[in-house]
Amino acid sequence: DLWQGIDFSRSKAEARVDGSTGVMFGDVAGIDEAVEELQELVRYLKNPELFDKMGIKPPHGVLLEGPPGCGKTLVAKAIAGEAGVPFYQMAGSEFVEVLVGVGSARVRDLFKRAKVNKPSVVFIDEIDALATKRQGIFKESTDHLYNAATQERETTLNQLLIELDGFDTGKGVIFLAATNRKDLLDPALLRPGRFDRKIRIRPPGAKGRHDILKIHASKVKMSESVDLSSYAQNLPGWSGARLAQLVQEAALVAVRKRHNSILQSDLDDAVDRLTVGPKRVGIDLGYQGQCRRATTEVGVALTSHLLRRYEHAIVECCDRISIVPRGQTLSQLVFHRLDDESYMFERRPQLLHRLQASLVDEQILLGGRAAEEVIYGRDTSKASVDYLADASWLARKILTIWNLENPMVIHGEPPPWKKSVKFVGPRLDFEGSLYDDYNLIEPPLNFKMDDQVAQRTEELIGDMYRKTVSLLKRHHAALLKTIKVLLDQEEISGEEIEFILNKYPPQTPLYLLE
Ligand code: ADP
Repeated sequence: DLWQGIDFSRSKAEARVDGSTGVMFGDVAGIDEAVEELQELVRYLKNPELFDKMGIKPPHGVLLEGPPGCGKTLVAKAIAGEAGVPFYQMAGSEFVEVLVGVGSARVRDLFKRAKVNKPSVVFIDEIDALATKRQGIFKESTDHLYNAATQERETTLNQLLIELDGFDTGKGVIFLAATNRKDLLDPALLRPGRFDRKIRIRPPGAKGRHDILKIHASKVKMSESVDLSSYAQNLPGWSGARLAQLVQEAALVAVRKRHNSILQSDLDDAVDRLTVGPKRVGIDLGYQGQCRRATTEVGVALTSHLLRRYEHAIVECCDRISIVPRGQTLSQLVFHRLDDESYMFERRPQLLHRLQASLVDEQILLGGRAAEEVIYGRDTSKASVDYLADASWLARKILTIWNLENPMVIHGEPPPWKKSVKFVGPRLDFEGSLYDDYNLIEPPLNFKMDDQVAQRTEELIGDMYRKTVSLLKRHHAALLKTIKVLLDQEEISGEEIEFILNKYPPQTPLYLLE
């Protein structure tokens, strides 16, 4: 017999006895509410008899639901770690085998072992692989293998339901499962008495990201000068797993560069690697090309700093410019995100400032073009013409969709601009709230614009453009100096830009430039 001696029913779950998952709640951050709720399970696992005596029933099962990489597995391990009990983990996909009866035998075996070693924690990751909605008899396919696999999965699921229902006999075992597709789960599994608790594990916010970075930074040698909070602020949407990866990547960069500890520049490099990709070698814009590139990038960055400084504008300031080509991009401009509220209640003055200096999908608006004009005169490049198109699009939105210029009346059809054009590729700057709008709405290129809107758009862009040019002209010295530094170093930080602005106040005569 071919299969002799192989015990398929034995689950591959590894028991880590004596709480040696080694994970504690202190290793988890950014999901405080979930942790708070899960504390109770730890209290139960530490002393199940006490709960019994008091007649308190522990939850049957706890479903952790949320996007991947946000700490579902981590927090499950932390429960076992805190309580100091064994942890039995398996992935839903491991139960699903073509061989009839194997899956259900594995379920039985997993729970049996957990009961023997109780108190203990059973954790099934990706439970959706095992417990997708059952098809029912009418959905039979003509494919026999498919039918067999479906049938097998259903038997496995039934076994799991039996285990969950008979849980009272196995006191002292906590059953946790995780999924990022709750919508796919079989309703039978979600009925009361199976998963009594459903806990949502959300992606971390800015504070959460900061705390997660701190946890992972404490495990490596990080220079004390590194400001983790700015990364937390500027990496919206990053999961815990991605942040952990960032710290690892930065450590690798530091080793490669023979640094004694991880420096800010190593983290910057790691962010670029994880988003736009590693440095691209062999691409050369030539010195003239680099100058153009540097001019437009500095134009935008400097405009944003100047607006903040002299007009108290609420716009992002630039954290860093790099003209090292990476992945698909020739240069990168990283902006410092504002707090979320600033975006929610963005009003007309802010949006107009945004026209002057802003990144929309890494496109440079009026600041870039204006800087080109200040440096090169009317001889501007095609690149900044594209930026102008984006500026016009934003201006039209200010005038029409957002209708921020009352009492402007819009005649004609409302523009059907809502199109699901999703941003492709990584993005460091704006995400969420208003900015999703930018991605979802196509510039209405074919839209026959109302004459009044067209005219007003032109005026608005013209006004803002002239303002931007004169702003940069007044700071001609700072503009030249920043471009020079960027060309020399290939990178410049927001602090360096501030330093230059202090050194070269408005109307500094050019001959004073060193
Ligand atoms: P999930 O199970 O939700 O897909 P994991 O728990 O497997 O995610 O996360 C993978 C890794 O990412 C963890 O081992 C940990 O290093 C890191 N991580 C994820 N979320 C967090 C968090 N909230 N706090 C700290 N680290 C986290």
